[in-house]
Amino acid sequence: MIDPAAADPLEPIGAALFRPIGAPGVYARTGLYVDVMQRLDAYVSGMRDASAEVLRFPPVMSRAQLEKSGYLKSFPNLLGCVCALHGTETEIRAAAESYESGGDWTRSLAPSDLVLSPAACYPVYPLAAERGPVPQDGWIFDVAADCFRREPSGALDRLQSFRMREFVRIGTPQSVQGFREEWLGRAPGIAEELGLPCGVEVASDPFFGRTGQVMAVSQRLQSLKFELLIPYHPGAAPTACMSFNYHREHFGTTWGLQSADGDVAHTGCVAFGMDRLTVALFCVHGLDPSRWPASARHALAL
Ligand code: AMP
Ligand code: ZN
Repeated sequence: MIDPAAADPLEPIGAALFRPIGAPGVYARTGLYVDVMQRLDAYVSGMRDASAEVLRFPPVMSRAQLEKSGYLKSFPNLLGCVCALHGTETEIRAAAESYESGGDWTRSLAPSDLVLSPAACYPVYPLAAERGPVPQDGWIFDVAADCFRREPSGALDRLQSFRMREFVRIGTPQSVQGFREEWLGRAPGIAEELGLPCGVEVASDPFFGRTGQVMAVSQRLQSLKFELLIPYHPGAAPTACMSFNYHREHFGTTWGLQSADGDVAHTGCVAFGMDRLTVALFCVHGLDPSRWPASARHALAL
């Protein structure tokens, strides 16, 4: 079904899964697509630890919290900030009407206290810290959000607005490392069950600019990030569909997450790129889920 020699071999797939709504990497998802994505979501829920606390976040979060998390040091180029018209009725009316007369109403915009969430897990650390000392066994959260990253592209695997699901572990260094090891061990089996070819590799985040390159090298040297990579068709450069992240004491120090004895908590997260995994299923197995391999149909209750 996929013609690897075509200019964009994924174009026919994209036409069945997404509808353009006026900006690159921002799409309406079709019923065919949403049905599979919801089944994938249920499949992920089936793997959730019994002790995990479920939280679903909106697509926006506190700007102050994201600033304090250090996001601007690492990815200022990807961040979207919610801006709004502030002021008196007269000022807001004048700004809005300037659009009708061909003016630039956006010059009257000012930043609000919200940003678009760039990953699902950022709000969970301050929320957990509010609860007081981290208990002996730590915490596990199951979180999700529609995330935004300012990386406009026509590619099906690089969206500006995409769904992210994460399992987040907060606890001792040993428990967080163990959690990540466990998920790294499970990942190839997940891909196999879904009938998707995969590899797992050490990775780095797309840190901004020259200093960012240094941060990326350090992240790799410390093996802080791994990714589950899936090629969408034979010979394609693989797409990162899941990530396995160890933040060490970063969020613990930032938010004062610590045990009753005063030990700073470590954190880690396992992220499922729900859109990338859904697109992978259609690219690898075709547009008719009733004809997908039996193990994938079983996993997704198709
Ligand atoms: P990261 O925090 O970069 O590891 O992102 C977690 C997961 O979200 C990645 O493994 C991808 O599956 C997914 N993801 C990240 N960026 C995008 C994007 N631009 N479009 C679609 N999915 C994405
Ligand atoms: Zn995370």
